[in-house]
Amino acid sequence: MKFDDYRISDEIKRSLSKLNFIKPTDIQFKAIPPIMKGEDVLAIAQTGTGKTAAFAIPVLDKLQFGKNRRREDGIKCVVMVPTRELALQITGVFEQIGRGTRVKTFCVSGGVEQGPQIAQLEAGIDILVATPGRLFDLVSQGYIRLERVEILVLDEADHMLDLGFIHDIRQLITRLPRQRQTLFFSATINETIKELAYSLVNKPVRIQISPKDPVAKNVDHSVMYVGMDDKRYFLERVVKENPDKKILVFVRTKVRAERVQKAMERVGIESITIHGDKDQKDRNEAMKKFRSGAVKLMIATDVSARGIDIPGVDYVVNYDLPEQPENYVHRVGRTGRGKEHGIAVSFCSPEEQPILDEIQEYLTKDIKVLAVDKDDYEATIDFSPEANHDWRALLKEAEETEAKDKIDRNKRAKKKAKKKK
Ligand code: ADP
Ligand code: MG
Repeated sequence: MKFDDYRISDEIKRSLSKLNFIKPTDIQFKAIPPIMKGEDVLAIAQTGTGKTAAFAIPVLDKLQFGKNRRREDGIKCVVMVPTRELALQITGVFEQIGRGTRVKTFCVSGGVEQGPQIAQLEAGIDILVATPGRLFDLVSQGYIRLERVEILVLDEADHMLDLGFIHDIRQLITRLPRQRQTLFFSATINETIKELAYSLVNKPVRIQISPKDPVAKNVDHSVMYVGMDDKRYFLERVVKENPDKKILVFVRTKVRAERVQKAMERVGIESITIHGDKDQKDRNEAMKKFRSGAVKLMIATDVSARGIDIPGVDYVVNYDLPEQPENYVHRVGRTGRGKEHGIAVSFCSPEEQPILDEIQEYLTKDIKVLAVDKDDYEATIDFSPEANHDWRALLKEAEETEAKDKIDRNKRAKKKAKKKK
C-alpha cells in the first residue's frame, strides 16, 4: 500500500511525495489507521523506523478537517518529548508534512527566552511540541491553556520518566480534558512507563514491532575490548580510517566529552561537543554543523541519544558504555535510520565488563566481538601522533626535571661553598 491510497488530504500526500515518502514503514502502516479512528495507541518500534510520521500524518489530517478548526479555539494537540533538540526536530517534521494544510505547529522548550515563545502562543497555534519542564512553567503562568486539547502524544516517554519529568507530566495531564486521544511512542519500554501508559489511556491499541531485537536491523553493531587509556587511539583510528564518514561518539560525562575533543584536536581531528552544560545556542550550533557535515565528528553525552534523526550518520562509537542498558539501543539507533545502513562499535574496558553484561542481558543476546589481535592493538597506539606527542611530552618533562635538578644541585653546591667560607 502506498500513501497515495490512503484517505488522507491531498496536501499531506503532496508533502509526503516531496519528502520522498512513497510507502509507509511498518509502524506507519500499523499505527495510522487506529489513530485516524480516534483510538489510543501504545506503539513500540525500533529506532529509525519512522515513528514521527506515524503520529504526525494522522494528527495533521485530523486537525485539518475535524470540527473546532478555528485557531482561536486553542491548542488541539500537545506532543511531549524529552529534549530540546528533539522538540525542534519533531516540529520540523510536522511543518514539512503539514505544509499547505494551514495547521500551525509551534515548539516551546527550555534554554531559550520565554518572551518570544509567549508572543507566538498568543498569536494562536494548533499543535504544540514541548519539553515537559518549559510546558509546565508556561501552563502554570497561564500562558498556555490545555482545555481544548484533543490529542496528547508522548514520544520517548520512558526517557522523560528517567529524566524525572514524571511530576510535570502528571500535573500537565490533570489540565487536559479527560475526553482525548493519547498516543505513546518509543523504541523501548519499561514497567514504570507501562503503568503510566495504562493509567492514561483508554483500551489502547498496542502495537509492537520486532520486540525480540530492540536494535534496528539496519545497524551492524559490535563490541571491541579496549583499555580505558587506549580508547582515544582507537577513536583516532576509526576517524582516520573513515575520512568521509559522519561519526557520532557517545561518552559518559560532559567532562569526558571535552577531554575527548582535546585528545582529537591534538592529533589534528576537528570535532564538536554537545552536552547539557552547553548553552542552547551552542547546542543548536553544534547540531547544525554536524547535520550539514561541516564537522564530521560529534562527541555527545546521552542528551543526544534519543530520537535525534541526522541522516547520513554512518558510524556510532560508544566511547564509554552507557550506564542505562536501554540507552545502548538508542545510541546505536542514531545510525541506520530509514533505509540507511549504519555501523556501531562500543569500546569496552575491563572495568566496564559488568555494564556490558547488563546490556547483553537487556538485549537477551551477546553483542558480536570485534577481535583486535595484539600486534594490531599495539600498532593502533604506535601509529598515533598522540602516542608520539606523549613520548615527546615525556621527554620534555624529563628534560625539565633534569634542568630543575641541575639548578637545585647548583644551588646546593653554592650553599655548601658559602658554608665552607
Ligand atoms: P524513529 O522515531 O522511529 O526513530 P524517525 O521518525 O525519526 O524514526 O524517522 C527516521 C527516518 O526515516 C527519518 O529520516 C525519516 O525522514 C525517514 N522516514 C520516515 N518515514 C518514511 C517513509 N515512509 N519513507 C521513507 N523514509 C521515511
Ligand atoms: Mg523518534
